[in-house]
Amino acid sequence: MTYFIGVDLGGTNLRAALIDPASGERLAVRKMATPNRAGPAAVIDSISQLIDEVVAAGQVTREAIGGAGVGMPGLVDLDRGVALLLPNIAGNWPEVMLRDVLERRIGLPVRLINDVRAITLAEWRFGAGKGVDTMACYAIGTGIGGGVVVNGRLHLGISGSAGELGHQVVEPNGAPCNCGGRGCLEMYASGPAIAARAIQAIVQRRPTCMGELVDQDLNRITVEVVLQAARMGDEVARTIFEQAGAYLGIAVANTLLTISPRKVVVGGGVAAAGDLLLDPARRTVRERVFLMPADRVEIVPAELGNDAGLIGAALWAAGKALP
Ligand SMILES: [Zn+2]
Repeated sequence: MTYFIGVDLGGTNLRAALIDPASGERLAVRKMATPNRAGPAAVIDSISQLIDEVVAAGQVTREAIGGAGVGMPGLVDLDRGVALLLPNIAGNWPEVMLRDVLERRIGLPVRLINDVRAITLAEWRFGAGKGVDTMACYAIGTGIGGGVVVNGRLHLGISGSAGELGHQVVEPNGAPCNCGGRGCLEMYASGPAIAARAIQAIVQRRPTCMGELVDQDLNRITVEVVLQAARMGDEVARTIFEQAGAYLGIAVANTLLTISPRKVVVGGGVAAAGDLLLDPARRTVRERVFLMPADRVEIVPAELGNDAGLIGAALWAAGKALP
C-alpha cells in the first residue's frame, strides 16, 4: 500500500493529511495557521514541519509514502512548478521554485495544483461527481474557483490553467474584477459580492431584518448573515440569493454548452445556501440552454466539505488523473 500526502495551503489555514488514494481515507490530519505575511521561506518551513507531523502521526515509514500534492490558493504554473499569483499570501512567489525546493526539503516527489482543481478531483473520485466521466465543479467562497473533468480526466489546459469558471463574463459591461477582467461571475455570486448586495439593501432602507441581525453594524454583514435572514423568510435576502443564483446559472449554462457534463458540483462556503442558490441557477439553465439536453445534467451540492482539497491534492500526487 502506498500512501500520499495531501497539503491544503489556504490564506488562513495550512492543513496536511496522510491519504490512502484508493479509498480517500485520511489516516492523520494536522493543521496550523498559515504564516501569510512572513514570506515564502516561512511557508515552506511550515509545510515541511506539518508533513513531518503527519508522517509521524500516521505511523508509516517514509518508504510507504509515494509523494505529496500541494493545493495552492491561486494560479500555478504546473510545468515549472511555481505559484504565479497567491492573492492572500505575501511573497514574490513567481521567483520561488516551490516544487523543487519542497522536494529537496521533504525528500519526496511533490506536485503542485490549484486548490479548486484539487477539490474537483476529490469530488469526482469520491464525492458528488463519483461515477461520471465529465463534470464541472464550482467552489464559491471569498472568490469563485473551478475545475473540469472531461472524458475521465482532470482537464488542465495550458500549464493547468483550465477551469477558472468564476471568471466567466456574466455581465459584459459589469464591475471590474480582481483578475483584471470585468463582469466576472465572482463579482456577482461570491461571498463578498452577496454581502455587498446586502449592505446596499440596508443602506437603501429596503424592508429587511439583516441590519437588526448585526445590530446595524454593517461591517458584520457576511454571506452567513444573509443566509440566516433568507432562512427566516426575509424577502430581500432571498432575492439576493436569487440574483446570485441566476448569475451562477448563466455561467453554468456556458459550461454545459462547452463540455456537456453529466454533473455540475457546487461547493464552497456560499454553497451552504443550498437550493436558495441552486434553484435559481437551475431555472436560468432551463431558460437559456436549448442545444444540449440540460434536463440530463444534475446541478448538485458538493459532498466532501473541507477535506476535499486535502484528498484531491493527494490524488493529484498519486497521478490518478493521468492516463
Ligand atoms: Zn475575474
